[in-house]
Amino acid sequence: MSYTDSFSLGRQLEVSGEELQEWLATTSDLLKQHVDSLAEQPSWNTENVDSILSGMDLSVSSHGKSFQAVVNQLFEEIIPCSFNTAGPGYLAYVPGGGVVHSAIADLISNVTNRYVGVWAAAPILATIESTVIRWFCNLFDYPDSSGGFLTSGGSLANWTALVTARVKLLGEDFLDGVIYATDQTHHCVFKAARLSGIPKRNLRLISTDRHFRMRTEELAEAVGKDRESGLRPFFVAANGGSTNTGSVDPLREIGGFCRAEKIWMHVDAAYGGFFILTESGRQLLDGIEMSDSIALDPHKGLFLPYGTGSLLVRQQNDLKDAHQIDADYMPARQVQPDRMDFNEISPELSRDNRGLRVWLPLQLCGTAAFQANLEEKLALTAWMHGQLEILSSQIDGEIEFPAVPQLSILAFRWRPNLAFEPGYARSTENTRGDDVDRSPKKNQVESDVDAWNQQLLERINSKKRVYLSSTRIRNQFVLRICVLSFRTHIGEMAECLEMIRQSINELALQVENGIQ
Ligand SMILES: *Cc1c(COP(=O)(O)O)cnc(C)c1O
Repeated sequence: MSYTDSFSLGRQLEVSGEELQEWLATTSDLLKQHVDSLAEQPSWNTENVDSILSGMDLSVSSHGKSFQAVVNQLFEEIIPCSFNTAGPGYLAYVPGGGVVHSAIADLISNVTNRYVGVWAAAPILATIESTVIRWFCNLFDYPDSSGGFLTSGGSLANWTALVTARVKLLGEDFLDGVIYATDQTHHCVFKAARLSGIPKRNLRLISTDRHFRMRTEELAEAVGKDRESGLRPFFVAANGGSTNTGSVDPLREIGGFCRAEKIWMHVDAAYGGFFILTESGRQLLDGIEMSDSIALDPHKGLFLPYGTGSLLVRQQNDLKDAHQIDADYMPARQVQPDRMDFNEISPELSRDNRGLRVWLPLQLCGTAAFQANLEEKLALTAWMHGQLEILSSQIDGEIEFPAVPQLSILAFRWRPNLAFEPGYARSTENTRGDDVDRSPKKNQVESDVDAWNQQLLERINSKKRVYLSSTRIRNQFVLRICVLSFRTHIGEMAECLEMIRQSINELALQVENGIQ
C-alpha cells in the first residue's frame, strides 16, 4: 500500500455534530431515568459481581460496536453493579453525591478540549480556575500572597503539600526531616510521606484526647526530643475533620506552636474544610488561617463528582519553588501574578479542565446553596445522634458513641446485653464457690461486641436502603454514618434510623437465644 492510500484511513474517529447530538439524546434519556430513580435504586448492588463479570466480555477488538449497544450495557449491567454513591442513602466513607452541574461542565470541557495547563493556551479558562482558588483562599482568610490549584483529590493535595514543605525547609538532603501526625490522620498522609522519600522512622504519631484532637503538649515534647537527637522537625499534619469521627485538631494552638518552631503547618481538611461555610464549622476550624497549607476535597464538601481536590498554600511562591522547571519547547510563561501557568506550581502539565467543573455549579447555584446544604448536613447528624441516644434506652443493651459528632460524621457501636449469652452466664456464675475468677476476659467480651457490630452493619446494609461503613476507633469496631450527600435529607435519615432500630432488635433476639 502506498502512503497516499492511507490518506483516507483516518476519518473513523470523527463524529459529526449531528451524530453527537443523537448520542447525547440517547444518553440524556438514560441519564434522566437514572437520576429520577436514584432514590429507588438499591443503596449497593455488588453481590453478584462474580457471575456478572464471568458472563461479560469487556475486551476491546479492532472493530467498533454500536453506540446504543455499548451505552445500554453500561446503564443496564455495568453501572448498577456498584455502591450507589450518588444515591441519597449513601452514608458510607465520605459521600458527596456529585452535582450534575459539574457533569455538564465536564461534557463541555471534554468536547471543546481546551488546554488549561498553560495560561496562554486558554487564558480565560485558566483564569476561571484561579477565580475558584481565590474564593477558596478567601474562605480561609488566607493572605493575598496565597494560591493553589485543583488536584484530582485530597491524597494528591496532601502529597504536594508535603513535597513543597520538604523543598522549602529541608533542601535536597532531607532524610533527617521529621513529620508529625496523629493516630487519627488519614493514611494518605503516610502514603505522601513514603512517596516524598521521608523514611518511616521519621514519622511521629501524636496521640489524641477523648475528642480525638491532637495533644499539643505531646507534639511539643516530641519535637523537642527530635531536635535534641539532631533531627529536623519540619511538617505537622493537623486534622481539619478526621475521617473516623470528623474531629478537628486545636488548630490555633498548633498554629502558634508551628510558627514559633518554624515548622510547616498543614491542615488536612479534605473532608471537613468546606464546613467553614457554616457557622459552627467556622468556629471549629478557628486557627486554620494560621496554616501554611490546606488540603480540600470539593468532591466531598462541595458535592462535586469524584476527581476534584485542591491544595491551598499560604505563600504561592513556595509552590513555584517546588515545581517550576524550564523547558525550551514550552510557550513563554506569564509574568503577571494573576495569570497562572498551573503547570509551574503543580506536578501536572496536561490535565482536565477542573476549574470549570467547580466554577459552573457555583455560578448556577450561588455559594448560598452550598452553605445551606452543609448546614443541613450538620443538623441531620446532630438529629441522628439525639435519635440514637433515645433508641439506646429502648433496646436491649445500649448504643455507645466514641465521640459527640463535631461535623457530619457519627460513629456508634451497639453494646448488646451479653448477660443473656449462655456462655457468659455460665462463666460469670461462680458455681463452685471457689475464688477463681472465671468471668469472661475483657478482650473476649470486646471481640464479641465487635462481632455483633459487624453483623449489625451487614444487617443494616442488607436492606439496601442505606449504606453505612465501619472503622476501628481505639481498637474497637464501630459503625459510621457520614452525612455529606446533597441528596440526603431528613427522610433518608429517618429511614436509616428505622433500619438501625430493626436490625438491633432482630440481633437482640439472637443474642437472647444464644445464636451468633
Ligand atoms: C478523603 C480524605 C482524604 C483522601 O482524599 P482523596 O480525595 O480520597 O484522595 C484525605 N484526608 C481526609 C481527612 C479525607 O477525608
